[in-house]
Amino acid sequence: MAKRDYYEVLGVEKKASQDEIKKAYRKLAIKYHPDRNPGNKEAEEKFREATEAYEILSDDKKRPIYDQYGFAGLEGMGQESGGAQYSHAFHDFSDLFGDMGGGFGDIFENLFGSGSMGGSGRRSASETGQGASLRYDLDISFRDAVYGTKADIKFQHNEICETCHGSGCARGASRKTCPTCGGVGQVRRSAGFFAVQQTCPTCGGTGTVIDHPCTACHGAGVVTKSKRMTLSVPAGVDDGKRIAIPHQGDAGVNGGTAGDLIVVLHVEQHPYFERDGQDLYCAVPVSMIQAALGATINVTSLDDKKIELHIPAGTTHGKLLRIKSEGVPFTGSTRKGDLYIKILIQVPQHMTSQQRALLEQYALLENADVSPQPVPLSSLNR
Ligand SMILES: [Zn+2]
Ligand SMILES: [Zn+2]
Repeated sequence: MAKRDYYEVLGVEKKASQDEIKKAYRKLAIKYHPDRNPGNKEAEEKFREATEAYEILSDDKKRPIYDQYGFAGLEGMGQESGGAQYSHAFHDFSDLFGDMGGGFGDIFENLFGSGSMGGSGRRSASETGQGASLRYDLDISFRDAVYGTKADIKFQHNEICETCHGSGCARGASRKTCPTCGGVGQVRRSAGFFAVQQTCPTCGGTGTVIDHPCTACHGAGVVTKSKRMTLSVPAGVDDGKRIAIPHQGDAGVNGGTAGDLIVVLHVEQHPYFERDGQDLYCAVPVSMIQAALGATINVTSLDDKKIELHIPAGTTHGKLLRIKSEGVPFTGSTRKGDLYIKILIQVPQHMTSQQRALLEQYALLENADVSPQPVPLSSLNR
């Protein structure tokens, strides 16, 4: 990839004074600093480019070489290898930003590390952390969702280690300052041209390590355990309903609160019943004679109760008949939805000769030989 001219990068003239170069770099560094543009690769590249240009043009030995021979002249001076040559620019930071008062310097302390400032990602070993909430998926029957149930659930979660009471240390051992990062929790690493701060891989950012970890939890302070519970599922719950059981998720660390166990309910389908909110729906077959003359039939409710249903004379196919308060209970209430029964009228498929003779007589009385005329679809009772 072609490199941009250093003067162009900083936006200064070839004859620019050290003061002008410094000012130009400062403007770019503030604009493209990674701390101000987290995750922005373009800004990171611009920052790296500007830093490299400044490093050369602010150096009164390298600048004349660059002016005369270009990038080629800098090769062999360690410029292409990156990483090792930026000390000069870094030493100038106090000079560069010294007149800005406190505040902005912190950004550079974080990026390049000065030892005394601690990195922004530091987490102390004594800091508390809340435990993770866990999800548990529970299948329940249609009927149990309507009337409520008790369900045995078995799950795994992290509990505070009983051996070390959560400290992670073996008996008599203690936490020591991390030898890799000196307790800062962050380490410096060369990434291309400039150095970045990273979470310390030895201590994971806590700044401390355990010389003799607890053998029961291997220093984690928590252990994974199976747990059984009986969960009360209230009447009237719907598919997708979440029930939170407080503090049954993973244990927190350093006295932090445990997460919750979130039970997500999955309601199975029923072969005959359907549900719309708190109302239940089912269908029953009725003979065309019962529908025409009217009848009282027995229907079986979802909880196996026999309910008398009166079918009025002249009931049409698809008619919905309502039985009040035989639907789904409203959660936490004695009120219930309704049960709707759809009437499916059956036409006899096999008749005795006597039945057929009677229907033929009826047909004569009805003048059934008259050609039927079409009617609008909307007139059908659905
Ligand atoms: Zn332990
Ligand atoms: Zn460390």
